[in-house]
Amino acid sequence: MRVNIILACTECKQRNYSTTKNKKNNPDRMEIKKYCKFCKAHTVHKETK
Ligand SMILES: [Zn+2]
Repeated sequence: MRVNIILACTECKQRNYSTTKNKKNNPDRMEIKKYCKFCKAHTVHKETK
């Protein structure tokens, strides 16, 4: 049930994190606030394929 996803910064579009998610709990695209070292700030990271 767990799938691999990549989280990309919505500001600079860099793909900063790869993680897994539970498709049952999060069927839609995930949005998480995480630290982006390129923006040097916490930004919203979106799931990408
Ligand atoms: Zn960024």
